[in-house]
Amino acid sequence: MSLLIIGTVAFDTVETPYGKVERALGGSGTFASLAAAYYTRPRLVGVVGEDFPQEYIDLLASRGVDIRGIEHAAGKSFFWHGRYEQDINIRETLVTELNVLETFDPKLPADYLDSRYIFLANIDPNLQLKVLDQTPAAVLTMADTMNLWIDITRDALEQVLRRVDIILLNDSEARQLCGTPNLIKAARDILAKGPKAVILKKGEHGVMMFTDQAVFSLPAFPLQGVKDPTGAGDAFAGGFIGYLAGLDVRDDAHMRRALAVGTATASLCCEDFSIERFKTADRQAVSGRIAQIAAATAVDYAPLFGA
Ligand code: AMP
Repeated sequence: MSLLIIGTVAFDTVETPYGKVERALGGSGTFASLAAAYYTRPRLVGVVGEDFPQEYIDLLASRGVDIRGIEHAAGKSFFWHGRYEQDINIRETLVTELNVLETFDPKLPADYLDSRYIFLANIDPNLQLKVLDQTPAAVLTMADTMNLWIDITRDALEQVLRRVDIILLNDSEARQLCGTPNLIKAARDILAKGPKAVILKKGEHGVMMFTDQAVFSLPAFPLQGVKDPTGAGDAFAGGFIGYLAGLDVRDDAHMRRALAVGTATASLCCEDFSIERFKTADRQAVSGRIAQIAAATAVDYAPLFGA
């Protein structure tokens, strides 16, 4: 079923204790759509400048991403430079250049207007709202965000929260948004702002999903070889919604499975720089990882119940 993803398509310069890449293919839309492409053919909406190599666009297309929604604008592409510390959970953003994103006004191709599953990856919430305005056929909408937008575009972000079904946040963003150190309270506060589900990403500690009825928790994949965590959150989101869109399902049992899919695609993302791992990992690699997650979390609780 049709999945539309809007996000950044970027040049990333990334330094980690394991090496450095310069102006590699990155961006929230890029990572999310490559992960979603294991399960469906995502329609990627974004903007690149004149300096963006055709080779990067070709790579997205070769992995099954529908690239007709990528606009080519005059000017330079979005550029981000981040550096990770020895403790790879700590990241510093050294440069963010919006460039063509500053004037980007997403107009969806006519073929995309019937999209049913929508992922608003990390990008200015004002642009996320413009996409929601153009997708009346949506049956499941999910948004991601980051600290920058909580700081500078909070009103637009609050509007996004009122309009989407699922919001994804990492733990520090949830605390920042709600001004509370307690994650469970933060998730409840965010639910009260509008979304039906809140998914909290806790990096190497896994993920939690909150709805009015339930709380569900899954640990991260136990990876030894983390080289570059850039895009892990986006790859998580892409795998999650790509799986749901591919099957056209939205019930609780499938949402829980989708969390395992996202956990698998996020772990693959971290194993190499930029999008490198997505070039080599096939659908079987994702399934194999899901089997390992299933084994690592299986518990026969029955003997604990009853007399
Ligand atoms: P993550 O590691 O999940 O936070 O995602 C990192 C990706 O987000 C990188 O590929 C960046 O190009 C992209 N990114 C960084 N800052 C922003 C921003 N302000 N808006 C949108 N995308 C961004």
